[in-house]
Amino acid sequence: MSTPEISIDLDKIAHNVRTLKKLYNTRGIAITGVTKVMSGNTRLAKILVENGLGILADSRMTNIKKMWCDGVQAKFILLRTLLSEVEEVVKYTDISLNSELSIIRALSKAAKKTKSTHQIILMVELGDLREGIMPIKLNHVVRTVLKLQGIKLVGIGTNLACFAGVKPNERKMRQLSSIANDLEKKFNITLPIISGGNSANYNWFMSSPNLGRINHLRLGESIFLGCEPLNKDPISELFTNAFTLHAEVIESGVKPSTPYGEKGLDAFGNKPEFESCGAIQRAILAIGKQDVSTEGLTPPIGITILGANSDHLILNTHKMSLKVGDKVAFDLNYGSLLSAMHSNTVTKNYVQATNDRRVLPNGRGKRLISQTTISNN
Ligand SMILES: *Cc1c(COP(=O)(O)O)cnc(C)c1O
Repeated sequence: MSTPEISIDLDKIAHNVRTLKKLYNTRGIAITGVTKVMSGNTRLAKILVENGLGILADSRMTNIKKMWCDGVQAKFILLRTLLSEVEEVVKYTDISLNSELSIIRALSKAAKKTKSTHQIILMVELGDLREGIMPIKLNHVVRTVLKLQGIKLVGIGTNLACFAGVKPNERKMRQLSSIANDLEKKFNITLPIISGGNSANYNWFMSSPNLGRINHLRLGESIFLGCEPLNKDPISELFTNAFTLHAEVIESGVKPSTPYGEKGLDAFGNKPEFESCGAIQRAILAIGKQDVSTEGLTPPIGITILGANSDHLILNTHKMSLKVGDKVAFDLNYGSLLSAMHSNTVTKNYVQATNDRRVLPNGRGKRLISQTTISNN
């Protein structure tokens, strides 16, 4: 194993895709796999497609182009549209999410030039204050969009729980449904796609007796990490440990718990405080902020992370005495996963489950220590 390494269990991801698809489809909601966390990785994209997702979405054209060129057999939705990329958007994507008329006009021009039709979903602001048209301006935007050549308005959508953590609850979803109904009536159109949000819509979906007009969700985190993002609760029947990050011990032994000597700032300009608890078992791992966002790593039970700099992660291993060369396995949150998948210093290791690895979902927190790997799963 060349470390740091992230192991990616393709079968667990496949299981999550199938389970979520079935769950949402049963009540009339289509799901699109959001691939941005995996950097347009073709192998992972193909797993999503093979397990029933015909449409993939990404925020970046580079990722979509990569999947397109690698022959991923899917339709593509662009989540974030740039004025400077409209030609590529029209060429490589089927649908884009939009909230600015100037960009939609440019898309129209680009589509006309290639004699094609580009489909758009208009994003509506419902309070999270990232992308979206303020509801009061929607009539004007729709009226304008309907006159543009080369552009087909196929739906509206919203994105909550991202920038500000505003929950996509019953009230917000009803608001989106009624906006859809109003627009259809006012302009005598049909909006086939009402895209209610992302993985954070799980609790709304599970608790709402009436889903209204919402018939589409864009899912990233729940597919890959098996959890609901607002409370980080595991979703039942899903694997939460499809990804595991391994790093190698380069120093291990008993040292004091608090630094000694005259103190200034650390390497990142902070003044860290350390709890004084006498001498402790410490280990240094060969992984740092340069490789991955270390704040989102969860160590195995019995180990705590004391801190990190660019190349080192410092652990308190409590009762365990690790050996130089041991590998320690970490779970990752979405932010850490994003950084690890985009890191060119983290080796990607794709694993297919063999029979003995077919553990049940939600195995997070279980401790298994083999000879060389200290692991969570
Ligand atoms: C990232 C993103 C998603 C997916 O969010 P998850 O929480 O990972 O499911 C959906 N929609 C938009 C617009 C996004 O940017």
